[in-house]
Parts: sequence; C-alpha cells; structure tokens
Amino acid sequence: TTAVESFKFEAEVQQVLHLVIHSLYSNRDIFLRELISNASDACDKLRFEALSDATLYGEQGELKIRISADSENKTLTVSDTGIGMSREELIENLGTIARSGTRKFIEQLSATQKADANLIGQFGVGFYSAFIVADKVTVETRRAGSDQGWRWVSDGAGEFTLEPAAGLSRGTCITLHLKSDAEDYLQPWKLRGLINTWSDHIAFPIELPVLKEGKPTDEFEVANQAAALWTRPKAEISDEEYQAFYKHVGHDFNDALAWTHNRVEGNQNFTSLLFLPSKAPFDFTYNRDERKGLKLYVKRVFIMDAAEQMLPNYLRFVRGVVDSDDLPLNVSRELLQNNRQLDKLKSALTRRVLDLLDKVANDDAAKYAEFWAQFGALLKEGVTEDHGNRERIAKLLRFASTKSEKPDQLTSLDEYIGRMPASQEEIFYLTADSWNAARHSPQLEGLKARSVEVLLLHERIDEWMIGYLHEYAGKSLKNIAKGELDLDKLGEPKDKEQREKLKQEAADTVKRFKDLLGDKVKEVRVSDRLTESAACLVLEDQDMALHMQRLLKAAGH
Ligand code: ADP
Ligand code: MG
Repeated sequence: TTAVESFKFEAEVQQVLHLVIHSLYSNRDIFLRELISNASDACDKLRFEALSDATLYGEQGELKIRISADSENKTLTVSDTGIGMSREELIENLGTIARSGTRKFIEQLSATQKADANLIGQFGVGFYSAFIVADKVTVETRRAGSDQGWRWVSDGAGEFTLEPAAGLSRGTCITLHLKSDAEDYLQPWKLRGLINTWSDHIAFPIELPVLKEGKPTDEFEVANQAAALWTRPKAEISDEEYQAFYKHVGHDFNDALAWTHNRVEGNQNFTSLLFLPSKAPFDFTYNRDERKGLKLYVKRVFIMDAAEQMLPNYLRFVRGVVDSDDLPLNVSRELLQNNRQLDKLKSALTRRVLDLLDKVANDDAAKYAEFWAQFGALLKEGVTEDHGNRERIAKLLRFASTKSEKPDQLTSLDEYIGRMPASQEEIFYLTADSWNAARHSPQLEGLKARSVEVLLLHERIDEWMIGYLHEYAGKSLKNIAKGELDLDKLGEPKDKEQREKLKQEAADTVKRFKDLLGDKVKEVRVSDRLTESAACLVLEDQDMALHMQRLLKAAGH
C-alpha cells in the first residue's frame, strides 16, 4: 500500500512555469543544460558532504551522470549518482521558489507582460525548464544516507504528486515524457550533439548509450572530457566552452562579457576563472543580501558558494570559480570569516578583476561601455569601500561632461586630463540630481565661456562617492559650485581695474540683496561665474551640495 499525496505548486511556481513554457520555446535546448547542471551540482554536494562522512557513498562510490532515451515510450532520462533529495527537500526544491527576490521579479515580469527570453534567463530557469519539452516529468530520488526513495510526478499544470518509491539507487533520476513536437530529442545524434557542445566543462563523466549502426545499445560510454574546465590549459579551451561553463556557474542565460583564467603558484597556489556577466542578474535589484555565483573549490572539490568571503562587496557582479590548493578541505564558513590566507586570496582576486576591467576598457571601448551601463554604479561604491585600490578604480570610472551632447557619451578621468589646457590644474566637476539640471546649471556659465570642460555628476551615488575621491593622478577634484573659483588663471583675464570698478558700482545692489536676504545667506558677492544668469547660489567648500540637502530634507532630516 503506497499513499500518493497531492500538492499544489506555490502560485509563483505556476507563474514561472507559464513564463518558461511560453517564452523559451525557441531556446528549448536549454532544458538539457539545466538538468545536467543540476546533476553536476548534486554530485558536487555529495562529494563535499562525504568529506566528513564517507559512508554516504554506500556501495556506489562513483559520481556520474547518465542520459538515455526510450523511443518506444518517448521518454528521455537524465540520472545522477549525486546527493539526491529527501521528501522535504523535494517539496521545498521542486514545489516552491526559495529566493524571495525571484518572487518579486516574477511579479514584475507578469505585470509588464514583456517577459522575453533574456529577462527570464536572468533568474536561471532551472529545473522547471523540463516542462518546455515534457508534458509529464517524473523525478525519482533517494538521498545519500537514507534508505527511503521518493517519486515526484507532475504535468506542470499546477499540482504534483509524491509517493514513496522502493528499490531506487542513490541519487536522482529525472524522466521526461516528451511532447509530440519535442520527439527529436530522442534522436541519438541530436543528444550527442548537445552534450558535445555543452558538457565538456562538466567535471563528472556524462554517459550516453553506445551506438551500433546508429541505434542505441544497452552499453554506455563517457561522452565528455569530465575534467574540471579550469584545470585544463587555457590554450585548449574554446570560447564556446568558457561560455557554456559560465552559464553553469553563473546561473545565467546570457553570454559572459569577458573572463580571466589564471593559475597562481608560489606563496599561495590557486586557480581562478572569473567572469564578467553581460547583464546584471535580476537579484541585483531584488536580492541585495544574497551573493551567489563565485564557487570555492579546494583541490577540485566543491566546498561552497563563497562570494562574500572571496571578493569585496562592490565586485559582487563577478561569477566563477576559485580552486585553492592551500586551504584545508574541511573549511567551514566560520573558518573563512577570519582567515589570513583568505584575505590574501581576496586581494589577489580583486586585483585580477580590476586587471580584467582595465584590459576590457583598453581593448574594447564599446564592450566596456556595455559593462559600465550595467555595473558602473558598483565601481562607484568601490571608490568609497576600497581605499587601497581607489586610484585604480577611479581610472575605470566614466562621467558625462560638458564636452558631450548626450548623457551616455562618457569620458574617463584620463581622457579629461588629456584635454586639460596647461593652465588648468584641477579636475572640475558639478553635481546635480539629473543630467539636464547639471548641464543647464548657471554655475557653468563662466567656465563654458572660457571653454573649460566640467564633469557632470548626476547620479545619486555620485555625491557620496566624490566625498572619497579628492584627487586623481596628482590632480585634485574641485566642485565648481563650492568656494572660490579663480577663473583668471583659466582663460582671458578680465581687466582688473574694470572689475574693481564693477564691484564698486555693484556695492549698493549687493548690500540691498544682503539686507533683503538677511540670515538666509552668509554672503553676497560679485561673481565671475556667470555670463548670462543674474545670480547663482554658491556653497562654502565644506558645505553639503544643495540637492543633497534637499534629499535629506525630503527624508525628514
Ligand atoms: P538552482 O539549480 O539554481 O538551485 P533549479 O531550479 O535548477 O535551481 O533546481 C532547484 C533545486 O532542486 C536545486 O537547488 C536542488 O536543490 C534541487 N535539485 C534539482 N535537481 C537535482 C538533482 N538532480 N539532484 C539533487 N537535487 C536537485
Ligand atoms: Mg539548476
């Protein structure tokens, strides 16, 4: 007597299913990538847990993935000898959406109705992609260390059933009952083609049936290299393989923008393979606290996702793997918190990422612009966070300026300095709460008249960031709205006598203004700043920018 229980999918799961099935039809192949990715993760997890309890392997010591097709029953099976799932894990992992960020993202997608494949790919479609090609999915699984197996069945329409299953081997076996328009996945050549393009980077053997005269037999053979990608020599790895690997570790659907792959030997011994995504993953906005996608391995054994421990917060967009030869295999999260070796690793990795960004910026300005549009704000955080690398990060910053016609025509500080006339000693900038407000600011008039370029800082974070960036390349950064501005040095000096005369003539007017404004201002003075406007507000050097004052006031300070 076996009790079959029915469960309803969480509402959000139904939404995900709907979006995935309807938006990814033309990217159907990805279901196989996702299932293999999960099988590989499951093998990694078992190998890690078995470090402290070798009995978890039981009789099956081999970690592997097997794929087979049954053309009579029109089923495709992906099985692994990984960690498996308990009953609770099945319900939790394949019936709910664990990450709260995903939930908000889905709500937003469903609301706008503009869900295209790229957007959906941002959260990594995962297991549910099976329903793109299958009208029924059976998951049979037995967790390592448990005697009890479970069978999970669903047609992806809102419910799943769960029942105990006897005689299962350790790990997970997923059977897809293919839709009639997806039967080409039964073709041996089709499967082989997909595995060949996608799975060489998977570190565990993937087995496919041996073919005899084009027909599958009962024997299996390994179809991939089954060596961890990062352990292989760079020259032997194609861009396609790097991209496939990126999608696996980065849980991303889009290609990576660039990567850096290095082996370090000496004081520390480690290999790193770090990727820059081309698109910000959705949880950048919705899941600030959770950082995923940078995996720590020790001697080829996956230990944990350890992005927080291995890179500073402002580089949280980086994805990839770090494989250390020096850390102990039994490292725990606690141990990672205060580990000097890890601190050194962290600064080495930070340098690698900054090197990579430098390289992209130098080699391919268009590509760097893409990066900047997605992650520029994070580098600005870096200026405030990473004292030691401040100058390097500043080199990577991009700003709008009075020399550009559009807000996205951006300049680097080096380019700005390259255009500075010999008489100019400081880097001038102006902060405002929008690009338009910045470029129409009366503060600019005097400088414009003298053709002096000014950087226009109009993003919210800029005011905060610039507080940490007092100089670059030996030149100080000067807010043109603060303190005295000596314009004479910069352009045609005006006749000194004439100006004194002007000041005298204006003395009465200035006094009237001062009387009128009273305590509202500290001082009223005749200014060189303006050419058209009648008056502008100027702050003392140490004052807070006006729009910041407005912001704080609005926030109730
Ligand atoms: P992700 O892989 O990003 O976590 P998925 O939707 O692909 O998301 O999978 C959801 C969860 O289901 C996984 O995190 C894992 O816990 C579990 N899972 C999926 N496939 C397997 C498998 N083959 N073996 C063990 N657990 C699995
Ligand atoms: Mg997955």
